[in-house]
Amino acid sequence: MMAHGQKEKLLHLFTPLFQQLSTHLGAEIRRKQLEQDFNQIFSMAPDVISILGADGYFKRINPAGAVLLQYSNEELLAHSFLEFVHPDDKLNTNEELNNLNKGQAALYFENRILTSTGKVKWFAWTFNPDMEAGMIFAMARDITESKKLKDLLDNANNLARIGNWEFDVINQHIYWSDITREIHEVNDHFIVDLTNGINFYKAGKNRDTIMLAVETALTKGTSWDIELQIITAKGNEKWIRTIGETEFANGKCSRIYGSFQDIDAGKKAELAIAEVMAEKAVILESIGDGFFAVDKNFIVTYWNKEAERSLKRTRQQMLGNNLWDIFGDAINSPSYIFYKKAIDENEIQYFEIFYETLATWFDVSAYPSHNGLSVYFKDITDKKNSVEKLRQSNERYERVALATSDAIWDWDIVTGEVVRTGEGFLKLFGYNAALADEAVDFWVTKVHPDDLQRVVERRINIFDNTTCNYWEDEYRFKSASGEYKQVYDKGYIIRDENGKAIRMIGATQDISKIKENEQQLQLLNVTLQKQAQDLAVSNKELEYFASVASHDLQEPLRMVSGFLAMLQNKYNDVIDERGKQYIHFAVDGANRMKQLILDLLEFSRVGKTAITKEVVDLSKLVEEILIMLGKQIEEKKASITCAPLPVISTFKTPVRQVFQNLISNSLKYQQKDVVPCVTISFTETNDLWQFAVADNGIGISDKYFEKIFVLFQRLHNKDEYSGTGIGLAITKKIIENMGGEIWVNSGMGKGSTFYFTIPKNLQ
Ligand code: ADP
Repeated sequence: MMAHGQKEKLLHLFTPLFQQLSTHLGAEIRRKQLEQDFNQIFSMAPDVISILGADGYFKRINPAGAVLLQYSNEELLAHSFLEFVHPDDKLNTNEELNNLNKGQAALYFENRILTSTGKVKWFAWTFNPDMEAGMIFAMARDITESKKLKDLLDNANNLARIGNWEFDVINQHIYWSDITREIHEVNDHFIVDLTNGINFYKAGKNRDTIMLAVETALTKGTSWDIELQIITAKGNEKWIRTIGETEFANGKCSRIYGSFQDIDAGKKAELAIAEVMAEKAVILESIGDGFFAVDKNFIVTYWNKEAERSLKRTRQQMLGNNLWDIFGDAINSPSYIFYKKAIDENEIQYFEIFYETLATWFDVSAYPSHNGLSVYFKDITDKKNSVEKLRQSNERYERVALATSDAIWDWDIVTGEVVRTGEGFLKLFGYNAALADEAVDFWVTKVHPDDLQRVVERRINIFDNTTCNYWEDEYRFKSASGEYKQVYDKGYIIRDENGKAIRMIGATQDISKIKENEQQLQLLNVTLQKQAQDLAVSNKELEYFASVASHDLQEPLRMVSGFLAMLQNKYNDVIDERGKQYIHFAVDGANRMKQLILDLLEFSRVGKTAITKEVVDLSKLVEEILIMLGKQIEEKKASITCAPLPVISTFKTPVRQVFQNLISNSLKYQQKDVVPCVTISFTETNDLWQFAVADNGIGISDKYFEKIFVLFQRLHNKDEYSGTGIGLAITKKIIENMGGEIWVNSGMGKGSTFYFTIPKNLQ
């Protein structure tokens, strides 16, 4: 195979030769010489050299020609030239050949030949006719390879949308290739010149740029490679890339040529990417999350504002530096391990981490990318703390639920779900709380049918009242054993921003026992009230009896005493000593009876007479009593000591009687041969005054401490110590009527101290 360069050289060599041959073929003299030369060339030439007849049939063909056309000599000589032409090129070739008939001197054309193997080959033909001889010299070059290359180039250019252009500066002529035209959206007839060519560039910056580029190219021979926007003939805006090179001849620019490429789609994509990148940057800056990016060696390539804030490092500090140089404290920390894993295993890592240096919790997502790692993180310290608080409060709630004997429940009103906590449900009603939670209508089926409607309606009313956040009710609730328990149920309502009740948390209490007790108490109350009434009636009757008896008894007693006195006076001389003694006994009995009746009358009157309170100076009151008892005191040479007593607002007469009874008893119940010594004292508390009357008398055995305050109860007979046994009973009744108390402290032979209190808020 001959190298391409050699082929070219030969062709150059032969073309003038053929022209020479065709011009001079007629010259007989030189014919032979030429024929010799021709035969030599004919057999040596690497290209097709053939002679066709006027009818187009092959007359002769060189051996190389037969090889190139891939037919045998015989095959070629038996057929016309046209028969070997590719069907698609037959018409064109025929037209070309017709030009010969019209008298054209030479033909240059390209066509495809269908070879004997069915292969298609491109040939470039030169036809030189010798009309006189009736012959055509046809010469051809196999251009299949270069054609293919050109097609490839065209295809490549077409694919890349690269067109060519040329500016012949000398002739001021501009050439645009098909693609250049296509890009400008102009047709084949459009005649381009420097002005309209430049005017395709968008007015302003774009047009100024290209004008400057052309100008400097023309003057200084500079080249250019720039991306600009044009507006096509159809008004479309397009991004193009223009490259220009200059050719200089004699110090002057003779030619500028270059390529012209439609980069609209790419440029737009590039711009869109730039826009997206800008947008991404805006997003990365404006998201509340912290964001940074590192390459595979942990060199920081991005550090957003939030990262600056929450990690306390500025962008300047971080960009271009190794993350671990700056955060040395985090080397080998869990973060470090997660980041390494993300890069090494190309796997997204999500984790929560506590960064001790800043005492901050972060929620981190680390995404591996082809050039490193993108890390998004959020400060979740508050959330963590609140979660912890929530956990603690939940724990508290659970503990409370465990500690209380109530059944604790949490009802999501919207979904109807109920969560029952603690042991209450099991202990009170025998239900497993978890199983109860699963049954949607658990509660409804357990409330007593007669209570259900009332409870539900009341609850709805409370839910509807947006100001009310508390519900309580009592109803019967069926326990696991089937027995109904009386419950007291209460709940706190949680509402949404519109006031709608969405949740209620509460506790159910089994009040069956309380209810039972309440009922029994009520029953007891009724009985007690009845008894109290009965007692009041009988008391009244008794008092009535006492007063009537004492009143009515006085009359016959007076009569008995009167007649006894008459008997004594009238028959004193007649009655013997024994009779006199009998009469004395009778008189004495009648007197005692009189005293008894008077005391009884007194007792029955206590608290009956309507008296009003007055301010009483108790020291003065005691003084008056002592004057009254002056004779006794004098006789017994008693010593009486009285501490200063308060001035109080009270019922004077009853209080006087109390002091008088106690002081006179102290004087009365004295030991023989001992000088009586009585002391009156007082203390007070916030609520009451407390008084004490102490003596050095005979004392009282502790077994009688209660008894002595009972009516008619005496510890001595009348001969030892006179009395009726009513004094202390009256005293106690008075004190208790005033809301106070009375008691004694004593020991036999050790004297006694009587205490009594008077409430300060005495009504
Ligand atoms: P009376 O003095 O009329 O017997 P009281 O009701 O005053 O009736 O007293 C009841 C009893 O309490 C007395 O009989 C006496 O035995 C006993 N008693 C009362 N005061 C004293 C006192 N100061 N010391 C010892 N015993 C007393």
